[in-house]
Amino acid sequence: MDRNRYDVAIIGGGIVGLATAYKLQLKFPSLKIIVIEKEAALAFHQTGRNSGVIHSGLYYKPGSFRAKNCVNGRKQLVDFAKENLIDYDVCGKIVLAVNLSEAEYLLELKDNGEKNGLKDLKILNPREIQRIEPNAVGVSALWVPESGIIDYKQTTQKFAEKIITINPNSKILCSCKVLDYTNEYIITNQGKIYVNHNIFCAGLFSDRLAKKDNLKLDMKIVGFRGDYFKLTEKAKNKINNLIYPVPNPEFPFLGVHFTRMTDGSIECGPNAVYTFKREGYKRFSFSLKDTLESLFFLGTIRLFINHWKFGLNEYKRSFSKRLFLRDLQRMVPSLRINDIIRAKSGVRAMALGIDGEVIDDFKIIKKNNNIHVLNAPSPAATACLAIADNIVRTAVDEFRLNKNYD
Ligand SMILES: Cc1cc2nc3c(=O)[nH]c(=O)nc-3n(C[C@H](O)[C@H](O)[C@H](O)COP(=O)(O)OP(=O)(O)OC[C@H]3O[C@@H](n4cnc5c(N)ncnc54)[C@H](O)[C@@H]3O)c2cc1C
Repeated sequence: MDRNRYDVAIIGGGIVGLATAYKLQLKFPSLKIIVIEKEAALAFHQTGRNSGVIHSGLYYKPGSFRAKNCVNGRKQLVDFAKENLIDYDVCGKIVLAVNLSEAEYLLELKDNGEKNGLKDLKILNPREIQRIEPNAVGVSALWVPESGIIDYKQTTQKFAEKIITINPNSKILCSCKVLDYTNEYIITNQGKIYVNHNIFCAGLFSDRLAKKDNLKLDMKIVGFRGDYFKLTEKAKNKINNLIYPVPNPEFPFLGVHFTRMTDGSIECGPNAVYTFKREGYKRFSFSLKDTLESLFFLGTIRLFINHWKFGLNEYKRSFSKRLFLRDLQRMVPSLRINDIIRAKSGVRAMALGIDGEVIDDFKIIKKNNNIHVLNAPSPAATACLAIADNIVRTAVDEFRLNKNYD
């Protein structure tokens, strides 16, 4: 056996890449798979820097790829977590309306969730809210019992372990950056790796790697940083589980929310700030290449023109703890400035169309020997196993895997 030749390479060691590799290995145990990740560890970017929420499927357009995969993926994820002793808790969440117009929109959200097959959604009155979250104050809330929390890093790691257990000839290769590729091999900073087929799950760099396949893309990935605060040890008991605001339907973000993490800490965030560096986690992170590429794209300019006010506010809030607190106090008025401390940041890979609109559905395309996951925004961590099923189906058809590896 040629030790440097693989049947399939998965580029990207986030949760989408690992879930795909895992599902592929389950279906074809003798398939020799290599997962290539440029960082020293798996789940270093979006997957390891997210809110850790198992989304229920409440918000997404009924019938969309995103809605179907969220609901299906959530069920698979919870089963996987149960079987593999991953830290998780289906604790439910409340979406809190703080005025009458938000309360009205909650009814629409409830209807949307029911169309997506969610069970036992319930509108709560102020007294019922206080029974679930004693410090939350609102005119009404939507109770979403199927939402939960999970450790996505642990989940990604478990997928990796399972792959190697099924086929010890497969490999998880970290600190290996894909620079280019041909039909026969991948060029990396560790040399050439010979592969028959590639599946690209490269998150914030999905468009750049797809362009190397001569794909003409009418979209670009733009990074939106999300900063988090967390509650101090003393203030932690002000929140039990998950409190979300009513989202503004004009924006693709859910708004800053309170999340109990699986380690018991309470995180608050994330905001959504345009970032000058795709993997830049600090407020002053800057990359000339990323900045020029995004600013010379018509879609970014249109996005800025259409949403300059929102953008400016988010920018201000990223520098001001007081403004951040003010948003949190809309839901939990008793919160004080000393109750919150700065925590991690994450950067969302937002796929932007040339019209300046955010492409919100998952997008997977194929070309020659390759499959490209171009857009896997939230709730792709929740939906990873369902997305993986779709990719495996495409791989079976396009790569004709059945014939060779049954
Ligand atoms: C702030 C934030 C909060 C979120 N909250 C939630 C949530 O609560 N619930 C939820 O379901 N979803 C959430 N999401 C979305 C979710 O985290 C992502 O949709 C999901 O993690 C995407 O996974 P991925 O594997 O596609 O990307 P990533 O996790 O970013 O992985 C891509 C990997 O590709 C690697 N890579 C890129 N280029 C190369 C190269 N050239 N060579 C080798 N490797 C390369 C990167 O290093 C990276 O590790 C959130 C996202 C963010 C940023």
